[in-house]
Amino acid sequence: MTRPLSELHGPVRALFSDVDGTMTTGDRIEASTYEALERLGEAGIPLIMVTGRPAGFAHAFMKMTPVLATVSENGGVTFIREGRKLHKLYGVPAASLPEWRRRMHEVAVDVMSRVPGARLSSDSKYREVDLAIDWNEECSLTREEAETCVHLINKAGFLASRSSIHVNFGPPHFDKLSACMTVVRQVLGSDANDLSPYVFVGDALNDAPMFRGFPNSVGVANVKHWWDELSHKPAYLTERAEGAGLRETIAHLMTLTAR
Ligand SMILES: [Mg+2]
Repeated sequence: MTRPLSELHGPVRALFSDVDGTMTTGDRIEASTYEALERLGEAGIPLIMVTGRPAGFAHAFMKMTPVLATVSENGGVTFIREGRKLHKLYGVPAASLPEWRRRMHEVAVDVMSRVPGARLSSDSKYREVDLAIDWNEECSLTREEAETCVHLINKAGFLASRSSIHVNFGPPHFDKLSACMTVVRQVLGSDANDLSPYVFVGDALNDAPMFRGFPNSVGVANVKHWWDELSHKPAYLTERAEGAGLRETIAHLMTLTAR
């Protein structure tokens, strides 16, 4: 049963946040959202970004923002800090990547031949582990066509999940949740089987594993677009959508720390 965000109680040790549709508002991170993220860090609550975007995006986030760690490619590549250096964790052994990617490109070609209009996302060339079919970023497929892509990819032995813009797919050995559990163990130093001290906020179907795994999971209001398709619903819901929903979440977390 999903409850209003106001019923979420602390203490909260860190915030895990999706990026597209959660941190962004109409494809941009608004100044007020970035400012809220900075305030959260100043209040002693670290931020971990969790995105389906490429590892290259994550590298930039790690270099240019105060984020503690970044999960990218839906769990395929995770960046953590080790002193001044960045350390990269892969969702599958790095030595197995060339063979995985050869097979994934074969599947992508097959899907594109069967679903007219389906294309690899323009950011796919910057991905290390997963690939993405664009259904709603620069292309305009219907939800049904996007689901056909998901079905064909899963049938070929990969794990596909749909965000608000892409159908991401990769080896079936990781997801956003498994990568976040690694961050909890290795970076936050706590038991990954108990995610109750942490909050996750997201907006789309590829966040379903996070909604399942985090007892304190929050959906920004635009998650309602996919509500009936969501296999696991968030525990809490914001009143506002996209970046405003993330700001609402951060404002609430700040009241919990102030107590
Ligand atoms: Mg999203």
